[in-house]
Amino acid sequence: MEFNKARNIIGLRVLSDNIIWLWVKDKSVVVVDPSVHEPVIRYINENNFQLEAILQTHHHSDHIGGTKSLIERWPSVKVIASSKEKKRIPFQNVSVEDGETLSILGEDVKIIEVLGHTSSHIAFFLNGENPVLFIGDTLFSGGCGRIFEGTYKQMYSSLDRIKSLPKNTLIYCAHEYTKGNILWALNLKPKDQDIKNKLLEVEKKLSLNELTIPFSLDEEMKINLFLRSKNLEEFTFLRANKDLWV
Ligand code: ZN
Ligand code: FE
Repeated sequence: MEFNKARNIIGLRVLSDNIIWLWVKDKSVVVVDPSVHEPVIRYINENNFQLEAILQTHHHSDHIGGTKSLIERWPSVKVIASSKEKKRIPFQNVSVEDGETLSILGEDVKIIEVLGHTSSHIAFFLNGENPVLFIGDTLFSGGCGRIFEGTYKQMYSSLDRIKSLPKNTLIYCAHEYTKGNILWALNLKPKDQDIKNKLLEVEKKLSLNELTIPFSLDEEMKINLFLRSKNLEEFTFLRANKDLWV
């Protein structure tokens, strides 16, 4: 479990490399992309919390797999998902669109559509003094999501949207892929000091059994080759190269 000091955001590690984020305020909890239900239910029960809402970034089973059981346990929970995914995220009861702002746990949460990984994918942005972005599988530390249903162009412009957010935004992605991503980046840029430093930092965290996530946008823009790419061609080359790496 990892804690964010400014906001109470807890990461539950599940499956091989997924992270379920729990945003806690007072006794209420919002869960992001519950791939499984047991550890979520256990955590909420142990702490005597109430489940308020489930945020879904996209339809993949390692993001929605636990949702049905959570609804059975808390039937009045809000399930917030893209209105474009009514078929593939059928249990949604709050359907949202790009640019919409919702009030969740008393805070404004803006929906930002970030296409590319899947034909519909949304991110949840909490503005304010300590901005937070729940980005699902669009951006990882040192990497970005694979392009399964969208296009390179869509993913490139999604990353552009992320880059336009406040630089102190803390980004919460759904997978602990950081070390592999950094090793790939170092293979392409062996002399890059920022990336070398990142590898040391990541190895230290992992050796202490800590998550390498969240990460800040400004730090990430220094070491993420996808965020650093200057045009669509460079991005396309990198994404195709990365697909062959693992
Ligand atoms: Zn996915
Ligand atoms: Fe995933």
